[in-house]
Amino acid sequence: MKIILLGTGGTIPTLRRSLPALALQRDGDILLFDCGEGAQLQIVRASLSPGKLFAIFLSHLHGDHVTGLPGLLMTIMHQSREKPLRIFGPPGTREYINLIRKCLGFNPPYALDIREITEGKFFSGSGFGMEAVVVDHKPHTLAFSLAEEPRPGRFFPEKATALDIPEGPLFGKLQRGETITLANGRTITPSMVMSPPRKGRKFVYATDTRPCPQVIKLAYEADLLVHEGMFAHDLEEEANLKGHSTCAQAAHIASEAKVKNLVITHISTRYQRTDELLYEARSVFPRTVIGQDLMEIEIPVHKE
Ligand SMILES: [Zn+2]
Ligand SMILES: [Zn+2]
Repeated sequence: MKIILLGTGGTIPTLRRSLPALALQRDGDILLFDCGEGAQLQIVRASLSPGKLFAIFLSHLHGDHVTGLPGLLMTIMHQSREKPLRIFGPPGTREYINLIRKCLGFNPPYALDIREITEGKFFSGSGFGMEAVVVDHKPHTLAFSLAEEPRPGRFFPEKATALDIPEGPLFGKLQRGETITLANGRTITPSMVMSPPRKGRKFVYATDTRPCPQVIKLAYEADLLVHEGMFAHDLEEEANLKGHSTCAQAAHIASEAKVKNLVITHISTRYQRTDELLYEARSVFPRTVIGQDLMEIEIPVHKE
């Protein structure tokens, strides 16, 4: 599973930071979180194929998070896509997309499967589930988690051989978690020849928001939390008044949620350099990086 930060700015794009968009690559599919203006160019720069888009998740209907959608949907139309494209977003998403279609006379040959979410578990894919919570930002804003199901434990062929299990299809059945019965009538369960199941990976995307407990709960023990941190500590009051977080506040959320790594995004245009932001965040949560456009982050599988 790999994360590619397509746009790490907030509110206004700059030459160095595009507007919010993030791609998650998993099993050949691309899941896109937010679609700020220019997202399709960032997709090209990241050498990703829009044809591999599996679904789009919109956090909220502020322009900086959704104005890239009309262009992207039209580009996909020219790529002769036939399979439906799922778009998940807060209430109002359907109206926004229908207005784009109406005003631009845009009629894609593929089906747009638009689903409005209030909150909760909302989607199960192959080997993973997705959940959304409402965060502290107006209008209705969602943070998303993608959590993989546990992977089967490691198989020990020497243990199987010691139990007189013949090598072949029975090995495969045990590896898939099935209990088998041998010719001598003995029952063998997977746990007799395998280590316990290995934890699946978890990714959480939370922008825009003030620091809030909903994200701590959603991101609990996540491998990676991408959280907004628009300002430095000296502008905490302004940040919170506008419905945003500082980098240090994002780091506190990461620390409380006991995540493995934190990436801060949605950086204000006022910061040309991010040393101060990084210093403030790492003072609270050392495993922090400040996101940069086109930065890639691999989330490795759990060995145990
Ligand atoms: Zn924003
Ligand atoms: Zn916003």
